[in-house]
Amino acid sequence: MILKPNGFADASLIRSYMRKSLPDRKSITSQEVYNVRVRALMLMKKIKAEGKTLGSFYFKPDIQKQLFKPLDEITHDFLDEAAKSAREIFYDYLNDDHCSFKLFKYLEGLAAVDVGFTYNISQNDNGKMTGFAWMTSVMRSNFERYHSVIFLDAMKRRTNVHLWPYMSVVVVNDLGECQPVCESILMSEVNEAYTFLLQSAFKMCPKVKPLHIKVVFGDEFFNEKLIQTSGLVGAKLFYDHYHLVLNQEKLLGPSLFQMTKVLLRSLLNAASHDKFLSIFDAILTKFPNYPKLNELLNKYAKIEHMITVYSIDSTEGSFQRRGSAPSEQNHWSVVSWIGDNFTGELNQLLMVLLERHSHKCTLTHEKLNQLHNEQKTMLYQLKKDIPESEELKSAEMLNKRGHDMFLDIIADSHNYLYKHSDDRKHLIYCVGHESSPRIFKSLDERCKCVDSVSNMKQCVHEFVLTQKF
Ligand SMILES: [Zn+2]
Repeated sequence: MILKPNGFADASLIRSYMRKSLPDRKSITSQEVYNVRVRALMLMKKIKAEGKTLGSFYFKPDIQKQLFKPLDEITHDFLDEAAKSAREIFYDYLNDDHCSFKLFKYLEGLAAVDVGFTYNISQNDNGKMTGFAWMTSVMRSNFERYHSVIFLDAMKRRTNVHLWPYMSVVVVNDLGECQPVCESILMSEVNEAYTFLLQSAFKMCPKVKPLHIKVVFGDEFFNEKLIQTSGLVGAKLFYDHYHLVLNQEKLLGPSLFQMTKVLLRSLLNAASHDKFLSIFDAILTKFPNYPKLNELLNKYAKIEHMITVYSIDSTEGSFQRRGSAPSEQNHWSVVSWIGDNFTGELNQLLMVLLERHSHKCTLTHEKLNQLHNEQKTMLYQLKKDIPESEELKSAEMLNKRGHDMFLDIIADSHNYLYKHSDDRKHLIYCVGHESSPRIFKSLDERCKCVDSVSNMKQCVHEFVLTQKF
């Protein structure tokens, strides 16, 4: 019998038992071994609940067939039980000498061949391992450079029978790519897991301090308290629009969601508080008798400052992100890389995730190379065509994207005019909008427009002002 009183048995032992009852040519996947483990633990619980032991319990003749049944054939009622059992197996796995030895050896081996590879292990009060997080040197470098806005992503995928919670901290680099900067596999409570993940990221990248993080995007699992307890006291939390829309559909159901999705999207995209209120009222007037929709709107009214575009854009360092693309991208990139039904052991999963990482690095490297070459050609042309120009200076100092942004500002600056007011203030206004100028009391005052605040850079108004003096 493959059952041990704790429901746990070594994979090779399970394999050898399965071998006996399967046709010779049928291969046994890690997935199937895993299914048997979870099934066995669930059965063990049933035996205990009936007050029986392994010896006294009556096993039905088709017991093998039952144990080998895939987990996704579990009916809904048992799904929670399966998830719980899967987590217990994961816990046992982590704390089984044989398996954790393999994992530790792998982690140690990686750290030995690559000084940039670091890992951190999470333990509960009993000193048992509950998960681990890791960071490579490329991740560290990305974290050091692009940490003002971070995205927290968790894969709580119920469709994945393995039910391993993969969690990561993601940033967006200056090529607009999302890059995980700390990845983890954790089984503790969601809040504790995130705290551990964030603390690991700072521990493994000491140059970035929690105070440096200005904006955090996450799903509705987070609250502001969690952000505070993780030490991110200078950060603002926003709910990413990707998960918000997923949750809208879940709460409203497909047909009500279809009817309201355009209005709900414009509610999230509201450019001011007044706009938010007017769209809010418009939805209520149009759909007065839908309790679920009411529930959603009431919630949104309470968390307006955490979901609306106008509050994101007026936050320093938010880079006008919505949180949607990065969360979605990393999510699906992991899923598509490891495959829908991946269920190797933990060291295998780690290996596959590291392969994904190295693949991503190669792609980024190729892109950077290409941009570098374009930049070189452009510099050559500028030196020839317009030496001593602002464009040439910018191209020499900035990277490709920075230079492109600078050129945009130069082009846009032709739409703006400068005026010195009677009370010695400096006015910058857009042609045709003379009545609503940007007013600067002094030349070194920073502009408060969205571009200047959220992107933390020189905006067109500041540029026009500096060109005058
Ligand atoms: Zn401005």
